[in-house]
Amino acid sequence: MTFEVAILGRGFAGLSAAWEALKAIPPEKIIIFGRVGVGIRASEVAQGILSNKGLKIAQAPLFQAKLDSLDRVDNWVRQIESLSGRRINRAFLGVYEPFLDEIDYKKVVSRVYKERYYGIYGSNLVKANLPYFRNINYMRYPLDGWIDARELIVTLENHLKSSGCKFVDQDVTEMNFESNLFNLSGTLDSRVQSKRLIVACGAKNSCVLRKLSVEIPKTKTVSGHVLSFGIKGPISQPVAMVKNTNSLIIRKGEALLGSTSWKEQTINQDLHDLEKKSLLTSLENDFSFDIRAALNPKALWGHRELSKDRLPYWGALPHSTIRNLFTIGGLYKSGLQISSLLAEACVADMLGKRVDSLASHFHVSRWY
Ligand SMILES: Cc1cc2nc3c(=O)[nH]c(=O)nc-3n(C[C@H](O)[C@H](O)[C@H](O)COP(=O)(O)OP(=O)(O)OC[C@H]3O[C@@H](n4cnc5c(N)ncnc54)[C@H](O)[C@@H]3O)c2cc1C
Repeated sequence: MTFEVAILGRGFAGLSAAWEALKAIPPEKIIIFGRVGVGIRASEVAQGILSNKGLKIAQAPLFQAKLDSLDRVDNWVRQIESLSGRRINRAFLGVYEPFLDEIDYKKVVSRVYKERYYGIYGSNLVKANLPYFRNINYMRYPLDGWIDARELIVTLENHLKSSGCKFVDQDVTEMNFESNLFNLSGTLDSRVQSKRLIVACGAKNSCVLRKLSVEIPKTKTVSGHVLSFGIKGPISQPVAMVKNTNSLIIRKGEALLGSTSWKEQTINQDLHDLEKKSLLTSLENDFSFDIRAALNPKALWGHRELSKDRLPYWGALPHSTIRNLFTIGGLYKSGLQISSLLAEACVADMLGKRVDSLASHFHVSRWY
């Protein structure tokens, strides 16, 4: 069977693209590839922080996209909820950033504008009395929020499946482009032809595109990890924290520590005890989190993940001789926030429609 569009990747980027495609293409003409399993994609370990954190003065497109993101994500999630009939747990309650002393505070407020304090968008200083956190100062970003990322991804997938989109539970291993068609196959028996292709494979984008002899220059992969552990005691509402490249979610029975700056490692594997220890120390130092009071030591695990290209991009590849080849990637830390923006632009472009002016800043052609 020949599909109208094949999407490689079932993280936020791929699923958002399928969601957009479904508005214009019959579901039975849409096929989505990607292995199933927790920890094999960045979207499965994302903690769900939606962060607009930044300075009012900064009008950079990425920052603007982030500012717009809460409304956008909220609308998008509402649509998914109304079509799927399922509620996705979320709490737009504000995100906290701790600081220990004046020097640390200056770093917090001057990250973008070097030592000069301009005031942070929608932020305020609080002395939060949060469970398990020592009573120090926090910058609170009341417009930032949190969403259960895993629930979002499962609900979105289920909706796409029940609408009739076809899913293949494996990665594409072979592909070529012949007579205006993409021929795709995976490790099992899944030979598929498609008129259009969207590559949304996160960190794997570059190597997947290379199979078609296409390169995206200037992208760089970084890796991330997440450490989850059981905590004791009542947490009535989730608390979202950020500090540098680390983030921490505290919710009922579980704390999730995530980091998106694990530079040395390139393979997916479980964390060693030493790494867990150093992560827990960073938890204590960065977040002033009282581990001893909170931790249920038996419930500790962690996984490291090769992930993400550096800056967002979408679109048809400018110098490719292959027509109808599109990509979305580089979502880095903002995957949840801007995947729907990029996917909307990418699918609009694919269908020959006008593209949102904000999204156009992230067109892949800027790398060439
Ligand atoms: C620890 C951590 C915490 C994070 N926390 C947050 C957060 O709180 N908020 C936020 O906004 N962002 C967060 N992020 C970032 C966010 O997770 C990513 O930006 C986003 O998930 C990237 O989505 P993606 O769809 O591009 O890639 P991925 O989610 O990595 O998906 C890639 C997909 O491609 C598939 N694939 C790979 N190769 C092939 C192939 N050959 N054929 C077919 N399919 C293939 C994979 O199976 C997978 O389905 C976090 C990231 C990490 C690592």
